[in-house]
Amino acid sequence: MSENKDSNNEPGQSSSKSRLSSYPPLDRWDDWVEYDAKSWPKKVERHYSLVPTTCFNCEAACGLLAYVDQDTGEIQKLEGNPLHPGSRGRNCAKGPATINQIHDPERILFPLKRVGARGEGQWERTTWDEVLDTFATKVRNALIENRRDEVVYHVGRPGHDGYIDRVLQAWGVDGHNSHTNICSSGARVGYALWQGADRPSPDYANAQFILLLSSHLETGHYFNPHAQRIIEGKMAGAKIAVIDPRLSNTASAANYWLSPWPGTEAALLLAMAAVILKEDTFDREFVRRWVNWEEFMREERPSLPCSFEAFIDAIKDLYSEYTPEYAALECGVKAETIVEVAREIARAGSRFASHVWRSAASGNLGGWQVARALYLLNALTGSIGTEGGVSPNVWNKFVATPFSKPAPQKVWNETLWPREYPLAHHEMSFLLPHLLKDGRGHLAAYFTRVYNPVWTNPDGMSWVEVLRNESMIELHAALTPVWSETAWFADYVLPMGVGAERHDIMSQETHSAQWISFRQPVQRVLRERKGEHIDFTYETNPGEVWEEDEFWIELSWRIDPTGELGVRRHFESPYRKGKKVTINEYYRWIFENSVPGLPEKAKKADLSPLEFMRRNGAFAVKTNIYDQHESRLTDFELEGTRVDDQSRVVKPTATGEQNIGVMIDGQPIRGFNTPSRKLEFYSKTMADWKWPEHTLPAYIRSHVNWRDLDQSAGDYILVPTFRLPTLIHTRSGNAKWLYEISHTNPLWVNPKDASKLGFKTGDLARVSTEIGYFVVRVWATEGIRPGVVACSHHLGRWRLKNDQGTDRWASALVDLDEMGDGRWRLRQLEGVKPFKSDDPDSERIFWQEGGVHQNLTFPVHPDPVSGMHCWHQRVRVERAQSDDKYGDVVVDTKASHEVYRKWLEMTRPAPGPGGLRRPRWFSRPVRPVDDAYLITDE
Ligand code: SF4
Repeated sequence: MSENKDSNNEPGQSSSKSRLSSYPPLDRWDDWVEYDAKSWPKKVERHYSLVPTTCFNCEAACGLLAYVDQDTGEIQKLEGNPLHPGSRGRNCAKGPATINQIHDPERILFPLKRVGARGEGQWERTTWDEVLDTFATKVRNALIENRRDEVVYHVGRPGHDGYIDRVLQAWGVDGHNSHTNICSSGARVGYALWQGADRPSPDYANAQFILLLSSHLETGHYFNPHAQRIIEGKMAGAKIAVIDPRLSNTASAANYWLSPWPGTEAALLLAMAAVILKEDTFDREFVRRWVNWEEFMREERPSLPCSFEAFIDAIKDLYSEYTPEYAALECGVKAETIVEVAREIARAGSRFASHVWRSAASGNLGGWQVARALYLLNALTGSIGTEGGVSPNVWNKFVATPFSKPAPQKVWNETLWPREYPLAHHEMSFLLPHLLKDGRGHLAAYFTRVYNPVWTNPDGMSWVEVLRNESMIELHAALTPVWSETAWFADYVLPMGVGAERHDIMSQETHSAQWISFRQPVQRVLRERKGEHIDFTYETNPGEVWEEDEFWIELSWRIDPTGELGVRRHFESPYRKGKKVTINEYYRWIFENSVPGLPEKAKKADLSPLEFMRRNGAFAVKTNIYDQHESRLTDFELEGTRVDDQSRVVKPTATGEQNIGVMIDGQPIRGFNTPSRKLEFYSKTMADWKWPEHTLPAYIRSHVNWRDLDQSAGDYILVPTFRLPTLIHTRSGNAKWLYEISHTNPLWVNPKDASKLGFKTGDLARVSTEIGYFVVRVWATEGIRPGVVACSHHLGRWRLKNDQGTDRWASALVDLDEMGDGRWRLRQLEGVKPFKSDDPDSERIFWQEGGVHQNLTFPVHPDPVSGMHCWHQRVRVERAQSDDKYGDVVVDTKASHEVYRKWLEMTRPAPGPGGLRRPRWFSRPVRPVDDAYLITDE
């Protein structure tokens, strides 16, 4: 809060009244005055220039406003940007903590090159020229020798929309690898099968009933923008139900907390669907128009008349086995509660919003069916595309087009997209060590980008083994704003800017609107505003911290200096023929040419589109987006199309292209991005791709089903997937405020189980998985279901040297002992402790146990359909043994490779119909040409 004349509570507006203001009005951003808190009780004025940017600490892309002190030229703090349509001036703790990341005394300021063996921890400072030339040669040779599957870019936090896709396609490589299969692809497959879009966009603020799986208020998708709208909905009278074995912050704010056995969630949801069907409280008209019931009847009930009434009888019959009593027994939730929630959902009708992200969909074998089952509730209530309901994410996300779009690559990288997983929603990134060990590929140049697989992925020691192996990975650069466990095993560590030191454009589906947000380097913007000429952002960043956009331009230019490879032309300025594009030109072109309404809006403010975005930081492209599926195809779109006699889909002019609409009640309507253009309750794709038993929303027994546990012997289900609201995987290691708030990850144990096992809070437990064990402290709490234990995946950072490596705010000093034959032991030598630095706070650290790195003990569990790593573990929990120490981790990578092979046996590999590697209608990151989908060697 600040006292300021002429300000009011309305963001971005000016007033003559004198009162407390939450947000500085836009017209005062060039000279904003606040009293200096430290000078209190004296009133000492401080003058700030305010520059908007975008938070880089999670995927939500909230707006930030940097307060730059006009006397010192330093960023004093970062608060919310009130003009941002998604976050509306509000942030979580991680947004303002960007200031810690800027001033982190542990940050990497110069590019580093390893000397000695990989992982030995010997580094020397190098130059960016040397880095760029080394990688340019490596990539150039791969292109010339047509080894276009040997260049891989592996992203942890994307943080931009489409930038790298363009770079990789300019190079002509199939090299995009992401973290998505350890994150969200379970739910994505479920949603994509229904609607052809892999994410939902719930309209929480207008909902009457909200059903959430996972902890959306603190860590959902997209956390702060969604959290504020969930609460807005609640304040307007909506009720909330949360399905989570753990009492999350969201569950604690809900009207209903349903705590089922992990892995049984789909059964619970189908029981709710069965209640709605049985009680005839579903939206008949919506189901008739928009569910692909005709296709279901034709394919699965050919002997019955293809009528809507016959379908209703069939679907009632299909789900009749999911009685509340059955679900109560299977899931461990009271039958009355299931009925009560189902009736609430039906009452909300088209204003029923739901969401599953990560959690059950990412924890379990068959987790993708949780999203299928959940969306069945939306389909039945007609709450798809409605106000207060859920829309396909693509309606609410705006991706701007850059000045040059390279052609899709002609290759298919089987190290990233192996044939065993034709339906995997994203690259099988977490299998990379096993695929490399099996000799299925080899990497010439590997870029990890804000990604820390050694720590974040399951089975981190297998990653260490391949990262150290120069015959598997020739050259590895870690592009990162912060030290990480993975960077330690790289050849080059390349410091990249944090949220106030780089450019990106982002958009997310936070509500029923489309917006873009501009991340920008604050110091550069201010200096350019003063008329200074800046060539590169690193000139205004600390040390030699680069921004990635400029790195990729420079690298691409050096890969193809003469233009002979066809790369260079995509990096030539759209404004100066034959010259290298500058970052200002890159964004100037986008804002001038590909954001509808922005040039007009900028003109009204007497600014160029680029200046407008530099001033405002965000722009609302569209608002109130509903019912897009109901729009009629235009005469222009219909030209040359034909309607399929049986399915009534509107077929495109050219073969191979996707269907563009469907005839409904005699009208050509756009529909959804599925083959039938309807919501696919029945998925022919699943039948065609060898999974005929999974064509409908159904319940798949998880690999951690409670019935398989030997509870008397100490077997439990471990839920390791939950985030803490204040941490951000690897990137919060450099944020002291965040570690001050959250710094340890105890094992949540129900008091009944604690007493059975002889534990009290603070005792040490040994938790054993299929490939090893970890030692952690117990927290006895009613916040977890009996029979289940939980541990947050955010903590347990480590470093191998005292004064270098993962930030000391967060990490323990460890000894990593390679015991031979694939066995490793990680033991903490020292916990987190105070250290001397330029920041006096580093000597005030009071926390000591920085958590346990549990992910090391998880083998890979790739779901055979979605490709999602199934995170939940069946574990044995017992008292720690006499030589166990807090934080110990012991693993066996040979055993983990065996588990990988066991799960591989569950797959049903490509080719599918027509010799394809993957259904062409499925989206794919950095999509190659259609021909690349064909398997030609069989
Ligand atoms: S939710 Fe928090 S961390 Fe994520 S973008 Fe918003 S402010 Fe940043």
